[in-house]
Parts: sequence; structure tokens; C-alpha cells
Amino acid sequence: MKKPKIVIIGGGASGLFAAIVASRNNTDVTIIEKNSRIGKKILATGNGRCNYTNVNADQNAYNHPEFVLSVLKQFSAHQTIEFFQELGIEPKVEDFGKAYPLSEQASSIIDVFLYELEKLNVAIKTDTQAKEIVKKGSGFLIHLDHGDALYADKVILATGGKAMPSSGSDGLGYPIARKLGHHVSTIFPALVKLTLDSPYLKSLNGVKITSTVQLINKNQVVQEENGDILFTNYGISGPTILDISRKANELLIAKEAPIINVILLDSLSKIQVYERFQKFKDKPVDQSLIGLVNKRIIPALIKQAGIQKHQTLICELTHLEKEFLINLLFNWHFPVTGSKGFEDAQVTAGGIEVSEIDADTLESKLIEGLYFTGEVMDIDGLCGGYNLQWAWSSAYVAAQNASK
Ligand SMILES: Cc1cc2nc3c(=O)[nH]c(=O)nc-3n(C[C@H](O)[C@H](O)[C@H](O)COP(=O)(O)OP(=O)(O)OC[C@H]3O[C@@H](n4cnc5c(N)ncnc54)[C@H](O)[C@@H]3O)c2cc1C
Repeated sequence: MKKPKIVIIGGGASGLFAAIVASRNNTDVTIIEKNSRIGKKILATGNGRCNYTNVNADQNAYNHPEFVLSVLKQFSAHQTIEFFQELGIEPKVEDFGKAYPLSEQASSIIDVFLYELEKLNVAIKTDTQAKEIVKKGSGFLIHLDHGDALYADKVILATGGKAMPSSGSDGLGYPIARKLGHHVSTIFPALVKLTLDSPYLKSLNGVKITSTVQLINKNQVVQEENGDILFTNYGISGPTILDISRKANELLIAKEAPIINVILLDSLSKIQVYERFQKFKDKPVDQSLIGLVNKRIIPALIKQAGIQKHQTLICELTHLEKEFLINLLFNWHFPVTGSKGFEDAQVTAGGIEVSEIDADTLESKLIEGLYFTGEVMDIDGLCGGYNLQWAWSSAYVAAQNASK
């Protein structure tokens, strides 16, 4: 019997994984990749170490938990670790369940993929861009650049989102899906650094602290994270901010005015700070803050509290100045003006509407034989290995079903 021909559009994380799974199911697989090499983005993941899964991955780490549930059940983080172990990748599990290859090299993932794909005889067409997919009888005709075309019994759209377009994922999958009748929800950058409005950013540039960060909208805390943050000359970065960025961008799109609240002293009470000020009432205000907060933050706090001179003694502060200063230590507000955009984002929020995709098979509900994997769908996860886990799990499910 003739092997079913599966064409996978996109040689990124999910496309490569799907190719291995489909090919092991005795199908004839071709990968179409517009870059000159496959897996370019994988090399950039986890700061070059590839945080390829999170052992705690469950549906709650994603924007559509009910949709991802069945997919994660079919291929979990545990199965991912085993799958990669079988390919040769030993896991190194770090804080918060983040798993990396023991080699600490993202290139290890590409190397084992390439070896396996070659072993399985998967055809890889690099420097080839898919332009359009047209339904032809029970199969598909895939129009490529340079006027070429390719026939497929089944197609897996693994074109990724729009984050880091220099890696090849520049949103080309969306018009392809739209032409087939699919809808694409508003896309915007997530897991991205935020730009802030503050006159103190230049002086704060490079200051790294561990604190609690809140995202506030209309005086309500909409998200709270604790961890490292880094001030930059444009705004703020760090894992906590990346996780908050999705909601912040969503609010900006809705024309809201979100605020980042940095709680510098999350382990002390205001009363304790009043007591400290009483104890150090004969110290200059800048000296009184030494040992309490990062030294480089102190000038900005004093200025923002409206205190003219750093040398002013605590006992010389007006009641209002003291109140203002203490309040800043617990509520340091920065209006969010935007983000560093898709160029800097780790993931795309939004994508092909999940209501048009079968959550058990990842087959299109509109076009039989068309499957989706990875970020091209309206699925994104938290920072920490969850997005690659989605790429692997969705690839497994789509490939298993496409090869039937
Ligand atoms: C800097 C950075 C760091 C990251 N770090 C992590 C991490 O440590 N852990 C984690 O879980 N996630 C991480 N992510 C997110 C993760 O890399 C993505 O979620 C994941 O790669 C998505 O896989 P995908 O297969 O959907 O798309 P991609 O990996 O983006 O692959 C899509 C591929 O399709 C190709 N393509 C697109 N359109 C066409 C077309 N029309 N024809 C042919 N080819 C096409 C592209 O060139 C690309 O190679 C990171 C992302 C970035 C940008």
C-alpha cells in the first residue's frame, strides 16, 4: 500500500517533532522550511540552553486551559523527557521545574533531530516558502515560491507565530490559514520586555532586584508575580515582567492604562519602616535607605518623593515627604507605555482560533486533513519551558492523527 504523504510547513520546533512522529508511523514526510536551515529559533531558546520543557507543565500554564488539556494528556512533559532521552538528550531539571539538556546546548536538540530525521528518510526542503494551500480532491496542493507546487494527502501547518521574525516565524501561516477559511484572533507580543514612562529609567538602567511586581488596572491588581526584575533605559525586564507582559499588552490593546507597581519591600511592614526612620532620624535620608533597598535606586526614590536634598536628615523631612517616601517603598508606580514588540518577544499571543480546531486531534474543523501545531494556534504559555512543551505535545497529537 502507498504510504500517506504528509507535508509539514515549517521546520521549527513543532514541525521537526511532528516529522519524527509521523515518519515513525510509516508515512512519507516532507518538511518545507523557508530558512536555509531548520530549527533556527530553537538555538535562541533558554538563552542558548533550550528550556525544552517544564516538569510541572499542566493546562493552567496556558491561555486556553480547556483546549490544551486533551493534548497535554496525550503527550505530557514526562513523555517529552523520555522522548528526548531516547534521542540522547539527558535532562537537567532546575528551579521551578525547568528542564534543559544536560549539555546545556540548544544545538543538541537540533543535532539529535537532524540525526533522527536523516535516519527516518524525512525529506527537508530548505530555502522553500509555502505560499498557499489549496484543497485538491481528498488531498492538497501546496504552492511554493518560484512557482513550484507539491501534492500532499495531509498537511500540518507548523509555521509558528510572529515572535522573533528574524528566526523565520514572521506570521506567514496566518494568511495561509485565512485563505482556507480560518479566523485569526488578534495577535500581540507576549513574554516580552515592557516600556515604561518614568524620568528615572536612565539612572536605573541595569539595576537588578528581586521583588514583588503587580500589574494594576483601574486601581485593581490584575496580576502579581515575585522574582527578579531588571530596570533598563526603556523600561523593565526579567522573568516576572515577561509573565506579566501578556496581560499588560492585552490591556493596552483595549486602550486601558496599565501600571507596573514595584513593591520594593515585600518582606517588611510600613510600621517597621516608620520605626527604622525613627531609629535613624539623625541620619541623612539617603543614608537611612542604605541596606534597605538597592543603593542605585535611592536617588530616584528621594527625587520622586519631592525631597530636594539627599543630605536632608530624616527628622527634617516634612510629614508629607516622609509619607510619600515610605509609600514609594511599597507602591512604586510606572505607567506601561508598550513593549519591545515581536522582535523581542518569546511568544505570540493570539493566532488561529481554537474553536475551529478539534482539541483531541488538532485537525481543522473546516478542512479535513489539515492539522495545526505550535504557536500558529491561539495558544501561548508562561515563561519556563511551557511554550516548547506545547510545540512538542501539539506536534505529537497532530502527527499521530495525520498519519492515520
Ligand atoms: C528568544 C526566544 C527564546 C525562547 N525560549 C524558550 C524556552 O527556553 N522555552 C520555551 O518553552 N519556549 C521558548 N521560546 C518559545 C518557543 O521557541 C516557541 O514557542 C516555539 O519555537 C514555537 O514552535 P513552532 O514550531 O510553533 O514555531 P517556530 O519554532 O517558530 O517554527 C516555525 C518555522 O516555520 C517556518 N516558516 C514560517 N512560515 C513558513 C512558510 N510559509 N513556509 C515555510 N516555512 C515557514 C519558520 O521559518 C520557522 O522555522 C523562545 C522563543 C524565543 C523567540
